[in-house]
Amino acid sequence: MTTVLAVANQKGGVAKTTTVASLGAALAARDQRVLVVDLDPQGCLTFSLGHNPDRLEASIYDVLTDGVHAKEVLLDTVDGVSLLPATIDLAGADAVLLMKPGREFALKRALAPLRDEFDVIIIDCPPSLGIMTLNGLTAADSVLIPLQCETLAHRGVGQLLRTVSEVKEITNPNLELLGALPTLYDSRTTHARDVLADVSDRYGLPVLAPAIPRTVRFAEASASGASVMAGKRSKGADAYRELAGSLCDYWWGGKDLQTFA
Ligand code: ADP
Ligand code: MG
Repeated sequence: MTTVLAVANQKGGVAKTTTVASLGAALAARDQRVLVVDLDPQGCLTFSLGHNPDRLEASIYDVLTDGVHAKEVLLDTVDGVSLLPATIDLAGADAVLLMKPGREFALKRALAPLRDEFDVIIIDCPPSLGIMTLNGLTAADSVLIPLQCETLAHRGVGQLLRTVSEVKEITNPNLELLGALPTLYDSRTTHARDVLADVSDRYGLPVLAPAIPRTVRFAEASASGASVMAGKRSKGADAYRELAGSLCDYWWGGKDLQTFA
């Protein structure tokens, strides 16, 4: 059985793209067949996995707007993960889809023929609650919300959760909200912990473990065209490996997800 996970938060800089790339690589290392989908016109995921968005002939834009088969656009990456890449063209997709019936379902339809070829498909949503994010949530079986543990991290969470509820009501009744994933976490302060407790109380949102620590290796990795999982060991990579294990146990082993105490 294939599972499709959307990684969403309309706030930028909360480690959505890093989470998709790192979790994808960690799942591939566990012999899962993994596809990652770049839904952000900025193409940061595409770039961080070693492909220059400016030099691509075809991208997810052609799949969503022109009916090009997703298989024709797939790229290999250094981490053994397949990539459905994005280019800046994707910025114009909203306007094209606006004129089409069932515009929230374009990605779900595009991914349907690929489901048999992958165990896990992870969708990197853009920093907005526009049509691309609605497509990501509509195509997904579950959604994970990376949350940077800082003051005011909760701003926007209510709106995001309302969008998730609306998607469940209207386009995807089976969408499961896995919870928030603490990112850029600084364990030396109690502040981050307080922020998480507050978000969890305020919204009844499960907070998943392990928290992903802030480490300098991530910035180095995104510049090098390989995910942080390649190369030297780091605490961040270890946290993503543990998260991958927790998700596999949950999806394929029927166990509970690890949560943050
Ligand atoms: P988003 O996709 O939500 O906009 P990114 O994944 O692009 O966020 O991350 C934003 C920035 O934070 C990037 O420069 C990335 O390298 C950095 N970053 C992400 N996770 C970590 C981490 N655990 N430690 C340090 N830097 C990180
Ligand atoms: Mg991003």
